[in-house]
Amino acid sequence: MLSTPQISPYPARLAANLAALRLRIAAAARAAGRSADGITLLAVSKGHPVEALRAALALGLADFGENYVDEALPKITALGAGGGARWHFIGRVQANKTWHIAAHFDFVHGVDRLRIAERLSAQRGHYQPPLDVCVQVNVAGEAAKGGVAPQECLALLQAMAALPRLRLRGLMCMLPFEAPPAEQALGFGELRRLLEDARSVGLPLDTLSMGMSGDLEAAVAQGSTLLRIGTALFGARAVDSRL
Ligand SMILES: *Cc1c(COP(=O)(O)O)cnc(C)c1O
Repeated sequence: MLSTPQISPYPARLAANLAALRLRIAAAARAAGRSADGITLLAVSKGHPVEALRAALALGLADFGENYVDEALPKITALGAGGGARWHFIGRVQANKTWHIAAHFDFVHGVDRLRIAERLSAQRGHYQPPLDVCVQVNVAGEAAKGGVAPQECLALLQAMAALPRLRLRGLMCMLPFEAPPAEQALGFGELRRLLEDARSVGLPLDTLSMGMSGDLEAAVAQGSTLLRIGTALFGARAVDSRL
């Protein structure tokens, strides 16, 4: 078969990056004595064009993470509803954007206030399945970062459990960029303990959304079930929109 010239660098580069990433995840899982099957790979596509997402879909990736509503909506439209992609909102949720998020996304990872959760529940369409959500926890106590304080996490989860149009899935955190390994283990370990506490009082949570390109090994070691990976898959972003 003749191969057509590749106009875009994405397909070839992405396939190689994905293969290397899968090896990294498999090695991390093996080191932690667990199976990589229980780990979802969320392709963080912020800062990359639709062609990159099409290439990822063709390689079997179906979960995409975006941080900005204005950047995400054209991509969601371009790939089309029913195109097989699942859309995760991983940025900070602003109250004036909840309507778009509730209407166009499948999963929201950064909920850290009851008011935001209430809006998402009220605005989720009744023709849609419930919106999957994680509560973001500020495990590192960084003033500039979103996330509920660890000691307030359980109360927020319990209040959110009563909201009819949300499906509570678990917890999410983001550690400081280039935190040393000991700090990564502490931060991710704390999120795991918070999830266990919530499960022990009867909340049916199944998701630990933790681990990015630079710290996925530590996250897998602490039980991550969902890795949010941008750079290691798609390469550097044109403008680093990392929060
Ligand atoms: C950008 C971003 C990621 C991906 O970061 P990489 O280091 O590029 O893998 C993951 N999670 C959140 C919340 C992000 O904003």
